[in-house]
Amino acid sequence: MPPAEPLRLLILGAHPDDAEFHAGGLVSLYRQRGHLVKMVSLSNGAAGHHALAAEVLAAIRRGEAANSAAVVGAASEVWDYPDGELQPTLELRRRVIREIRGFRPDLLLTHRTNDYHPDHRAAGQVVQDASFMVRVPRIVPEVPALQRDPVVAFMSDPFTKPSPLKADVVLDVTAQVDTIVAMLASHRSQVFEWLPWLEGILDRVPGDDQGRRTWLRGWFAAKVRQRADRCRAELIAAYGEARGRRIGFAEVYEISEYGSPLDAAARERLFGFVFQ
Ligand SMILES: [Zn+2]
Repeated sequence: MPPAEPLRLLILGAHPDDAEFHAGGLVSLYRQRGHLVKMVSLSNGAAGHHALAAEVLAAIRRGEAANSAAVVGAASEVWDYPDGELQPTLELRRRVIREIRGFRPDLLLTHRTNDYHPDHRAAGQVVQDASFMVRVPRIVPEVPALQRDPVVAFMSDPFTKPSPLKADVVLDVTAQVDTIVAMLASHRSQVFEWLPWLEGILDRVPGDDQGRRTWLRGWFAAKVRQRADRCRAELIAAYGEARGRRIGFAEVYEISEYGSPLDAAARERLFGFVFQ
């Protein structure tokens, strides 16, 4: 049974697979409980391939994002800004403001602005630029302003300068890994083609579906295992000594100072069910 008042989770990532890579566990947990999730890619993803033409790839990636969202019953949108050249323009800020006001998220996820990828930085910047403006009625006046900011959180990245990601929220997503992998497997052009090509391991990707799924699980696990190791102390504090030490897969979020604060009541509302 869906909750009477479902929570609303909006993810504004730079690329069509960012939500799954960085927040797939939370997406899965929210959907399991009947909460609403919308994953938006600000760019069209058209630069993410070594062989396919941009316009062909853009159409493929839109379909892949829809397939991935369908795994958990989330909503999905891929916007048309050029991949690799995303800019935090006033025009994009206005569109982001309209999106946030329209969806009315309780929780909004994006990237930090010290990420390696210029598109991730641009997405993080434009969401932060919109964070306060969503409450200002004179800005984008055709859409009613919000009374309250959502809680805004940054998805994890491994970068340390000028500061590493602060582990304000740590989630054990071990039980969600199969769902995350199923979602990622929908992004075929990425996880079975482009990213292995970038890493020089394309020849290791199996040809059959079952073999690919197994390979993807191992590849993804190797990438994210360090997340749990980096925040072991926080996991132990959140889940207790015994479970905290055993957690192999974690998602980590830093709360933005520009949205609503994650006070005790908000933490309980947005994440409390995850710890039960
Ligand atoms: Zn990305």
